[in-house]
Amino acid sequence: MLSETCPECGTPLFRKGKETFCAKCNKPVVIIQTAEDEIRLKSDTILENSEQILMAKIQEINLALRNEKDPDNLVAYGNALSSWLSAIEKLRRLKRDESG
Ligand SMILES: [Zn+2]
Repeated sequence: MLSETCPECGTPLFRKGKETFCAKCNKPVVIIQTAEDEIRLKSDTILENSEQILMAKIQEINLALRNEKDPDNLVAYGNALSSWLSAIEKLRRLKRDESG
């Protein structure tokens, strides 16, 4: 079984000799996706996931900040927040560069 799915029915495709074959449609499928596209798609997914994780962390730190009174902790949270925000900024720049 291949990682690609049939563009028509979404069934995972099989390699049959030199052809990529969909068992459900019972016909060969031409994959127009190049290796380069696949790499780009994968890295987009990774960037997207990283951004989501960072966003979730920022949300957590916001909640923690609300109740935090210790100055040292506040500085630590502030530093974390600042570095995560710049990480998100970099992630977004990377995504933009790739799509453009
Ligand atoms: Zn199919």
